[in-house]
Amino acid sequence: RDRIHKKIAKGGNWFSLEFFPPRTENGAVNLVARIERMAHGKPLFCDITWHPAGDPGNAEKPTSSTCIAGTMLNYCGVETMLHITCCGQTEETLKEILQKAREMGIRNLMALRGDPPDGSSTWNYVEGGLNYATDLVRLIRQEHGDYFVICVAGYPTGHPDCSSYADDLKHLKEKVDAGADFIITQLFFKAETFIKFASDCQQIGIDCPIIPGVLPIQAYQSLRHIVKLSRLEVPQEIIDTINPIKENDEAIRNYGIDQAVSISKTLLQSGIVNGIHFYTLNRDVATVQILKRIGLWCEDPRRVLPFKPTANHARCK
Ligand code: FAD
Repeated sequence: RDRIHKKIAKGGNWFSLEFFPPRTENGAVNLVARIERMAHGKPLFCDITWHPAGDPGNAEKPTSSTCIAGTMLNYCGVETMLHITCCGQTEETLKEILQKAREMGIRNLMALRGDPPDGSSTWNYVEGGLNYATDLVRLIRQEHGDYFVICVAGYPTGHPDCSSYADDLKHLKEKVDAGADFIITQLFFKAETFIKFASDCQQIGIDCPIIPGVLPIQAYQSLRHIVKLSRLEVPQEIIDTINPIKENDEAIRNYGIDQAVSISKTLLQSGIVNGIHFYTLNRDVATVQILKRIGLWCEDPRRVLPFKPTANHARCK
């Protein structure tokens, strides 16, 4: 099949959808049903995030990122990207995870450093360890050549740990030079933030596709949680708009839909990008509405389940 970085480069508008691993087995069943529903709109790919305390040693659990990724690909029939973080993991464990992903038929990985797994805010350099996403990109290329398409994370306002925006861009270029095929960005609140970032990347010679990561704001508490985790600042005008409606979930969601539609339209019309990556927060209503309003949802009536598992499909227990 065509590799996703080739499809991205080809042109034509597209979208992709991010999900996170559920906590319970029931949650896994619901998530797979939701992914299946959303697959009807024909995303270019779907990805599943990596929970730092999650997968190692637990790849067979139905709630693990690896297992969800295998189900997305082999049951739902969607092109799948598995996130992997290297922070705090041995090279040996990472090699096993890569091998498992390969056995599942996965061809796309998002290579990340991750955050300290114990919830502490400080991150410590480990001599001889895999300390940065660049190290993971190198390990993947060293062990698997071009087998995997590799995506890395970009930060339109700079990564919070980095001494400067310029240094962070330099490190982003190192990830690309190490073998990453494309970049997905951290969420941002204004289209101009992404446009400036894409232009700054281009100026220092980053020439792979850069995909904007758009978060539909869906609830007040979840927004607070996400910005705390990502260490982002919400612009004052957004705070002023949502504060008076913070108890009204429907009003917040409608605001989030309008805001995501506006950002997505500006970016698509700018001609800088031809695809948008959505942080779904494992919910479908808002994202599907946004996709319909920006004209990217294209219902495929011929989809029938179950898709035939591929020969490589390692079954989840
Ligand atoms: P890196 O690219 O390694 O950068 C981390 C920091 O180190 C940056 O400040 C960078 O400038 C700096 N740096 C890089 N190289 C060097 C160097 N050689 N010398 C000095 N400094 C350097 N987290 C999860 O746990 N699971 C997920 O699934 C997940 N998915 C994500 C998806 C996206 C699109 C994004 C944007 C983030 C995601 N994260 C996820 C969060 C991510 O793990 C954190 O933001 C983490 O702090 C940084 O990861 P990274 O891969 O960007 O790190």
